[in-house]
Amino acid sequence: TIGMLAIDSNGDIAGACTTSGMAYKMAGRVGDSPIIGAGLFVDNEIGGATATGMGEEVVRTVGSFLIVELMRQGKSPQEACEEGVKRIIAKKENYRDIQIGFIAVNKAGETGAYCIHPGFSYRKYTEEGHQNIPAESYIKS
Ligand code: ASP
Repeated sequence: TIGMLAIDSNGDIAGACTTSGMAYKMAGRVGDSPIIGAGLFVDNEIGGATATGMGEEVVRTVGSFLIVELMRQGKSPQEACEEGVKRIIAKKENYRDIQIGFIAVNKAGETGAYCIHPGFSYRKYTEEGHQNIPAESYIKS
C-alpha cells in the first residue's frame, strides 16, 4: 500500500491510498485499502490515518478510524498509531507472522507512525524540505 496524508495552507486535511493487495490472494478478496475507516480515514477537524500490511487485521479493528478517534480523545499521532497496532497484536497470537504499519497526522501537522516489524519508514514533506522518518516498531530489530 502507498498511503498519503496532506494538509494544505488552510489546514485542510486530505488522504489517499493505493494498493496491489496481497500476494496469492483469493479471487474477490477485498483488502483494507478500499474500505474507508479501515485502510484510510480523514476527519478534517481532527486528522488522518492510513495503513499498510495485512488488511484483514486492519479491517477487524477499523484501524484508521480508530487512530483518528484516539487523536480526537487527545492522543498524539504517534500514541494513536501505537495503540492501533497494539489493538491488533492483543487479538493476534501469531502477530509476529504479519506486518502492519500506520501513519497519522493531526490538525497541528504533527505526525506519527508505528508498525509491528522494523524496517518501515515514511517520508515527510514540509515547506522546509523533506526527510525520511523510520517508524518505531513493536518488535525491535
Ligand atoms: N493492505 C493491503 C491489503 O491488505 C496490502 C498492502 O499493504 O499493500 O490489501
